[in-house]
Amino acid sequence: MEHKRSQAIYEEAVKYIPGGVNSPVRAFKSVGIDPIFIDRAHGSHIWDVDGNEYIDFICSWGPLILGHSNERITEGISEMIAKGTSYGVPTQIEVEMAKLIVEAYKGVDQVRMVNSGTEATMSALRVARGYTGRNKILKFEGCYHGHSDALLVKSGSGTITYGVPTSPGVPADVVKHTLVTPYNDIEALEEIFKTQGEEIAAVIVEPIGGNMGVVPAKKDFLLALREITKKYGTVLIFDEVITGFRIAYGSSREYFDIEPDMVCFGKIIGGGLPVGAYAGRKEIMDMVSPVGPVYQAGTLSGNPLAMYIGKKQLEVLRDNPQIYKELEEKAIYLETGIKAHLKELGLNYHVARAGSLVCLFFTDQVVRNYQDAMTCDIERFNKYFKALLEEGVLIGPAQFEAMFLSTAHTKEDLDKALEAMGKALRIAHQ
Ligand code: PMP
Repeated sequence: MEHKRSQAIYEEAVKYIPGGVNSPVRAFKSVGIDPIFIDRAHGSHIWDVDGNEYIDFICSWGPLILGHSNERITEGISEMIAKGTSYGVPTQIEVEMAKLIVEAYKGVDQVRMVNSGTEATMSALRVARGYTGRNKILKFEGCYHGHSDALLVKSGSGTITYGVPTSPGVPADVVKHTLVTPYNDIEALEEIFKTQGEEIAAVIVEPIGGNMGVVPAKKDFLLALREITKKYGTVLIFDEVITGFRIAYGSSREYFDIEPDMVCFGKIIGGGLPVGAYAGRKEIMDMVSPVGPVYQAGTLSGNPLAMYIGKKQLEVLRDNPQIYKELEEKAIYLETGIKAHLKELGLNYHVARAGSLVCLFFTDQVVRNYQDAMTCDIERFNKYFKALLEEGVLIGPAQFEAMFLSTAHTKEDLDKALEAMGKALRIAHQ
């Protein structure tokens, strides 16, 4: 496979953009190669500027649950553009979008649109702090909630891969209110609440960890979290930026049958355009400006084009509930196929799956938290990644990322990918 044009663009890119990319993981640095630059994508396939074709399991890191350039959601967008791209004055479609989200997510009454997952979590925390009048927040090791200062502590995703648990530029004074305990550890949770529970404004959690690979929370852990936050008057925030409308139409709220006080969305609700949202019960959302005193705003928030695409994607998901079953069946097919390869090769690696999220951990350890994830053999993963790319299969260029499935992935795609995975696993263990 040749990457001449990608290479040429990359050489130009590094001159003008830090690392040549607008988000660190795109640099492919952790796997030790230069990035590919994309020309176009359709359905489950993506083409780079050299004309190489890949089966895409990144899918823009989750938003494209219906695959790339799905006509069911892009249809009519040209007419929308012709009507203007942004007004900064309200539109009806924002109301329709809010209604869709509130109807889908049991227990929340109101939603505020923002432009990214980072903005959603950052704003939700501010609201929770304003609501409780407390400063401290609690997060879990290995969970990533975007890159706002207060949350850039022991987080996952690129911060694991690049070894930046707490970034320079984040003042110690800002993160002194951020408490961190291990994921899936009820004892540690109880311990921290025993000593500081009265001061904790909010607990934020990924109900299925998607930034240290795929690490589902144990239901007991989430139940304990629900109970203890209720007891101490702490706001429980589910960060559903990945899981929202992916794990079920009602998101983790439905999947685990546990109701948080607030929820954050991103990715799927924007259908590939820049969108985030946070939502909660009315008494909490009443804190938000202009009703309440907690300030939060955005020039492009509720952008009509983003709302158009996002709303259409949610409507397709709402009107075709079988999609979730089909996605899960595909994920199980992939999981089973990977396990068969591992067995054949005498490898005992952990394969994690939750709904349509899949991750092959290069470790024998069952991965329940960040510490377990750290036992992975990164060098072997990197070899595996490179071999897969060469075979025309694109997965996230780092061990601690999920594989994202879409309705566009066909059985043929999965069979081809599985064959490539078998080959790549062999190459990685030569
Ligand atoms: N929360 C979670 C769970 C995420 O996975 C991400 C990004 N992958 C974010 C928040 C931040 O979202 P964004 O990149 O849109 O700012």
